[in-house]
Amino acid sequence: MSSIVAIVGRPNVGKSTLFNRLIKRREAIVDSVSGVTRDRHYGKSEWNGKEFSVIDTGGYIVGSDDIFEGEIRKQVQLAIDEADIILFVVDVEQGITPMDDAVAKILRQVKKPLFMAVNKVDNAMRAADAVEFYNLGLGDYHTISSVNGSGTGELLDALVEEIPEPVEDEETDNELPRFAVVGRPNAGKSSLINALIGEERNIVTNIAGTTRDTIDTKYNRFGFEFNLVDTAGIRKKSKVKEDLEFYSVMRAVRAIEHCDVAIVVIDATRGFEGQDEKIFWLAEKNRKGIVVLVNKWDLIEKETNTMRDFERQIRKKIEPFTDVPIVFISALTKQRIFKAIETAVDVFENRKRKIQTSKLNETMLDIVQNFPPPAIKGKFVKIKYCMQLPTHTPQFAFFANLPQYIRDPYKRFVENKLREHYDFTGVPISIYFRQK
Ligand code: GDP
Ligand code: GDP
Repeated sequence: MSSIVAIVGRPNVGKSTLFNRLIKRREAIVDSVSGVTRDRHYGKSEWNGKEFSVIDTGGYIVGSDDIFEGEIRKQVQLAIDEADIILFVVDVEQGITPMDDAVAKILRQVKKPLFMAVNKVDNAMRAADAVEFYNLGLGDYHTISSVNGSGTGELLDALVEEIPEPVEDEETDNELPRFAVVGRPNAGKSSLINALIGEERNIVTNIAGTTRDTIDTKYNRFGFEFNLVDTAGIRKKSKVKEDLEFYSVMRAVRAIEHCDVAIVVIDATRGFEGQDEKIFWLAEKNRKGIVVLVNKWDLIEKETNTMRDFERQIRKKIEPFTDVPIVFISALTKQRIFKAIETAVDVFENRKRKIQTSKLNETMLDIVQNFPPPAIKGKFVKIKYCMQLPTHTPQFAFFANLPQYIRDPYKRFVENKLREHYDFTGVPISIYFRQK
């Protein structure tokens, strides 16, 4: 799992500009399949070979111009609770404002790695103005310009020092599936977990104040063995905090990063809406397996096509990644609970699927040679060979003479063909075209 960096600070200091700069390069590489940035406030970044998640906390505050100080304070506190590293942004143009003071006051108590970035230092002259920020009592700072990028490299050098080296064997093959139950508040996550694991839930594990750690608890239910990823947040279950979208997103981020398969619970009476979509794409972006559970199905008045129509609506919203199982359940009556777990186990298996190179070429070469990518400027693109990469999640390389001419629609075509021939239901696939 990767560390979570939370960007905090009052409105207009440049948090979202910095956020975009941090995630842009990677988004361009990784997200070319879906082609869209699904969440403007959460993304993955990488520096010096270390991967981390970035959250722009400001993005979750609505009406950010005349925002109450109390609201900011709440956001900062949540960021402190849930993130691993805090990046506090201030603005050299404005200097220290009372709101900066208020945030700094909270941050002075923080035990986690904290970086202060004095932003909008676009030129050397402004660097001298930054010294006033020593008065915030947070120690040293980095001067940066989020607009032109200066200073951000040094900031990142220092920041990734705080991120542990990636552990090679974090996901080994013989481990049990790790499921995370995620979804918006009141979707029925706790009810589902209760239905799944019964009374054992009440066994309280000592969480000893380390919010970084999630707890994997092992269960054996309905003949399946699995770990349920439980974050401190789920156990605390404080409804007040949870009502903030920011909090549920944070919680989902943490749980998703620890899991193999994200069980995305939605409330049938509300449909698949913005926050559900965000959580769905969070899991996709992290290349996790996904099962969508439409909960509270007992509350829906059903006619002949109710389920089919409901399912269609969801699939429309998750295009182009539509090869995802959708199960209609009731945590209350326990309808299809077994099916839900069975499906999650299937997705776990699909995510581990490895296709032999010879088999893969047998199926895929015929297809790509019969339906080659369109010629560009009179040049023909020929794909000669393909293989599955030795990664934890399904990733494929196709070797071609002119890989730079291959566009997203063709990539999608190849992905669909792969999915037709091999069962990758519920699993994001990455496809790369490389020079042969
Ligand atoms: P947020 O509310 O903290 O997310 O702030 P934004 O990222 O929306 O930026 C607020 C304003 O500051 C925008 O007009 C940005 O273009 C501007 N801004 C952000 N970073 C810089 C910078 O490094 N230098 C200058 N001169 N302006 C910046
Ligand atoms: P969470 O916030 O996602 O953990 O949601 P909860 O499990 O606390 O459920 C929120 C509310 O929905 C509670 O009042 C539950 O009793 C109710 N609920 C959960 N699942 C179902 C279901 O399948 N059917 C019905 N009718 N109510 C449910």
